[in-house]
Amino acid sequence: MTSRTRWAEKRFHAFCSVAMIAAISVVTPAPVAAQEGASLIRDTEIEEILHRDADPLFDAAGLDSKTVRILLVGDKSLNAFATQGLMLGLNTGLILQTETPNQLKGVIAHETGHLAGGHPSRSGEMMRAGLTPMILTMGLGVLAALAGAPDAGAVLLGNASYFGTLGALGYSRDQESRADQAAAGFLEATGQSGRGLVEFFDNFRYQEVFDQARRFAYFRSHPLSSERIETLRSRVERQPHYDAVDSPADLAEHQIMKAKLEGFINPQTALMKYKETDRGFPARYARAIAYYQMKEPDRALALIDGLLADNANNPYLWELKGQILFEFNRVEQAEAPQRRSVELKPDAPLLRINLGQTLIGQKDPAKVEEGVLELKRALLNDSDNAVTWRLLAQAYDTQGKDGAARLATAEQYFSMGAPQEARVFAMRARELLTKDTPEWRRATDIVLASRPSNQDLKDLAKEGATQSVFHN
Ligand SMILES: [Zn+2]
Repeated sequence: MTSRTRWAEKRFHAFCSVAMIAAISVVTPAPVAAQEGASLIRDTEIEEILHRDADPLFDAAGLDSKTVRILLVGDKSLNAFATQGLMLGLNTGLILQTETPNQLKGVIAHETGHLAGGHPSRSGEMMRAGLTPMILTMGLGVLAALAGAPDAGAVLLGNASYFGTLGALGYSRDQESRADQAAAGFLEATGQSGRGLVEFFDNFRYQEVFDQARRFAYFRSHPLSSERIETLRSRVERQPHYDAVDSPADLAEHQIMKAKLEGFINPQTALMKYKETDRGFPARYARAIAYYQMKEPDRALALIDGLLADNANNPYLWELKGQILFEFNRVEQAEAPQRRSVELKPDAPLLRINLGQTLIGQKDPAKVEEGVLELKRALLNDSDNAVTWRLLAQAYDTQGKDGAARLATAEQYFSMGAPQEARVFAMRARELLTKDTPEWRRATDIVLASRPSNQDLKDLAKEGATQSVFHN
């Protein structure tokens, strides 16, 4: 089984593949070699590093950094994209190709230039493809939440090709040069050098000579030319912060992020790249993850325990330890490390979901009850997470709460943007729940918001149920 398939089968974990996104080749005009379906990855540690890199640039661009979502796309090809609805997508392949934080920040600044310049929304191609309303209404929950739900994955495939489409939409040369210039401005405004962006382009300059089909996706959509690189170079060299360098903290985080990605995505490569003789934190971290991915949990756990001896307050090491134990069927042993990760980082919903999953996976009714509470807490910060709803449904089934379970399943589909399924489960929940309770009203609201049939509406009207929506 490939690691990607394994990911898809996993339940929710710190680092999980979330959604099968249709291959980019589907929508690219040029004949591209078939790619594996890419998957969306959630990982608290990496998301935080990316936001620390990107948020100052978003702010400099006049965007509200709290509203820009960063999507980490598990795909080996080099690509990044910006979309309407303020989403910035970064392929893991691109992150791994950046040599320094400054290079990655340069690419992020360039994409931010497209976002701030409204370039994606100007694309006639996108409008023609009917993408705009989809993106605006979909919400990230569609993507953010599907690990381990094969049925959900099938629903998602219909939506997911849109992300491939977005990645393949080309910008004009004019938009490219404006995004470059904007990037230079954002980097300077945040006291950073534009050198990394030029270096990154220089590293892929040879792509210019390839015909369209052989170029990396990123350089198909963001056409590169010597002239473009030289124009950018002359601008950034004149900027006051041209000689600014990455801070030691930024360099360390970038190394950790790359080590983690390499370990998860390319475990064999990680073991070659990060030698046993390298006693540095990133190398040991990458090796631990690689062994875990290669189904050698004991080697992985020994490495993690070594890292924990020196870093007892690192929530992500505890998270990883709990994840490995859970996944290799040591569910009870997983509980303590997961509790520790939540104690150390109480505001991270993904860590709570792991703990909740472990608790509901045990027989003890008190633990199941506590697991339900953890999942509900996770939903407070991550309300459209379909995985959480799915786990809640599982917990309610264990507790024999049939109505609550079907309502949670309805919420799961609703958050995925799958109205048909949401409606069916919400109708079922209404039959099982006590009339006029908040849960029953919520089920009614889901039916009404999920393209109800005329018959559904007649049934609801007969009961006066529509009041909950129209008269609140
Ligand atoms: Zn571009």
